[in-house]
Amino acid sequence: MQGAVAIVLAAGSGERLGQDRPKAFVELAGRPLLVHAAGAAFACSAVSMVVVAAPPGGEDLAHAIVEPFGAHAVVAGGATRQGSVRAALAVVPADAEAIVCHDAARPFATLELFARVLAALHGADGVVPAVPVPDTVKRVDGDVVLGTVARERLVLAQTPQAFLASVLREAHERAERDLAEVTDDAAALERAGFRVRTVPGEPGNFKITTAEDLARAEAIALELARG
Ligand code: C5P
Repeated sequence: MQGAVAIVLAAGSGERLGQDRPKAFVELAGRPLLVHAAGAAFACSAVSMVVVAAPPGGEDLAHAIVEPFGAHAVVAGGATRQGSVRAALAVVPADAEAIVCHDAARPFATLELFARVLAALHGADGVVPAVPVPDTVKRVDGDVVLGTVARERLVLAQTPQAFLASVLREAHERAERDLAEVTDDAAALERAGFRVRTVPGEPGNFKITTAEDLARAEAIALELARG
């Protein structure tokens, strides 16, 4: 789908990473996570503009980081991811047909994945990249195992996630009105009864949360940089 705007969620503090700066500004192979995550969005021909939700106070730095790549806007993020999406939606041009939301914490999403979720928007309100659950999943109460969950019908949801712009706006407005907390954008659509589909995600598109994730990502990024 053409006429898409990308929202890059980069306003998290990244406390669990144990670094001296917000996660999006932490460097991977010498470049901030924000560059890695936003790069594929900028490279996607269907994306006409990138809106970055930056850590409050980090707007100028975020602007300087993405400035060389193309048309963009930077807003101060909110206290939650959901709040950051709402802040970003406020500056998405009204004529955008589609919006693709991506977490800056996922630096390895490819241009092809952005194109895949946007292409699958024909016939759906929202599209989520998903990968199978490799491990056996247990339901627990503390350390007591209550049962095993059939994993055949479970998937792990990634970003970038693509949405019809009007639907994403309505779903977030409803979640806000209902004081409902959602951890990804697809969840806002699901609870509002919209049609969300999956497309194959990418095993390499993992989210950086801990110092161990960052070390693993650094090794991969250096390998990729070597070509
Ligand atoms: O904390 P977590 O890794 O789950 O956050 C997912 C994404 O949402 C990250 O890219 C983070 O920067 C972003 N986020 C945000 N605003 C917040 C919290 C998280 O943009 N208040």
